[in-house]
Amino acid sequence: MRSFHHPSHALHTPNFFLIRGQVRANYEVPARAESLLGGLHALGLPPALATPATPAQLRSVHTADYLAFLESIGPAWAALPNAGAEAVGNTFPTADALASGGRRPAGVIGQVGWYTADVACPIGPHTWEAALGAAGCALAAAAEAAAGAQAYALCRPPGHHTYAARAGGHCYLNNAALAVEALRAAGAARVAVLDIDSHHGNGTQGIFWHRPDVLTVSVHGDPGSYYPWFTGYAEETGGADAEGANLNLPLRFGSPDAAWLAAVQQGVAAVRSFGAEALVVSLGFDASEHEPLNALNVTAEGFARAGAMIGALRLPSAIIQEGGYNVELLGTLLGRFLTGWGDL
Ligand SMILES: [Zn+2]
Repeated sequence: MRSFHHPSHALHTPNFFLIRGQVRANYEVPARAESLLGGLHALGLPPALATPATPAQLRSVHTADYLAFLESIGPAWAALPNAGAEAVGNTFPTADALASGGRRPAGVIGQVGWYTADVACPIGPHTWEAALGAAGCALAAAAEAAAGAQAYALCRPPGHHTYAARAGGHCYLNNAALAVEALRAAGAARVAVLDIDSHHGNGTQGIFWHRPDVLTVSVHGDPGSYYPWFTGYAEETGGADAEGANLNLPLRFGSPDAAWLAAVQQGVAAVRSFGAEALVVSLGFDASEHEPLNALNVTAEGFARAGAMIGALRLPSAIIQEGGYNVELLGTLLGRFLTGWGDL
């Protein structure tokens, strides 16, 4: 198995994070990637340097206007009088505003609200550069999968909360969706995404909502009490033209290994019955029992068993790093997951 990274992630150092009305330090820090990198080296799987994605490659998933916004917002924000270090929206388009003529505004602050779902995706001066590096890692892993292999992409920032034209929850470009489109373009007729990050993969669901050729499965903490709140429920089974191509498996807060692994196994079975020719895994470690702000209680052994279950599909696979915020543990959990997967 090959693995990929890009050092530009370290330029993205988000600060702002709002929790229960209090501004706190952001959890999505460069040290996360350093921990994962340590895990890869400990496995004897040193990553290759990926080529950053080009805007043309990103257009398979993201709209041209959103990409132009992401690329330009850093300097535009810095030019505002009395601007903070990173762009954070303060007003967001609501469903009723959009249903009654709401539109994208011309001003910088309004555009940040338009193109972000929440305040958990602050955009700094180098966020674009870091996001291109992460997307490049996903595309490199997808190219391995397109050749029939299995590969791991150390993506930071993560991606699964990003819609086609909206950032959210630490995510700016949807790395997993980019991998899916690369695999489709390389000839895989049906591709599945299995998302085991503890948060619902809402952006990925949204991007493929109308696509019967892409199965999206997400195993996550109950969104009734957990980000992203508004989606991730079992009733969401796909758009009218893709009924059954989305499977959400929300779990009760505090669910231990047994419940989580049963859901992962259900996801694996869905991937198999869908007849996927290739697989994209959205791999988060925030289901860990030692996660800050945790919803689930998965042990290191649980991650090893999940790796074994998913690896047993023996599909060409791109494993895309998503969340997980216990910096001390991330490298170890990645090691356990990939060792469980096997064929290293
Ligand atoms: Zn997460």
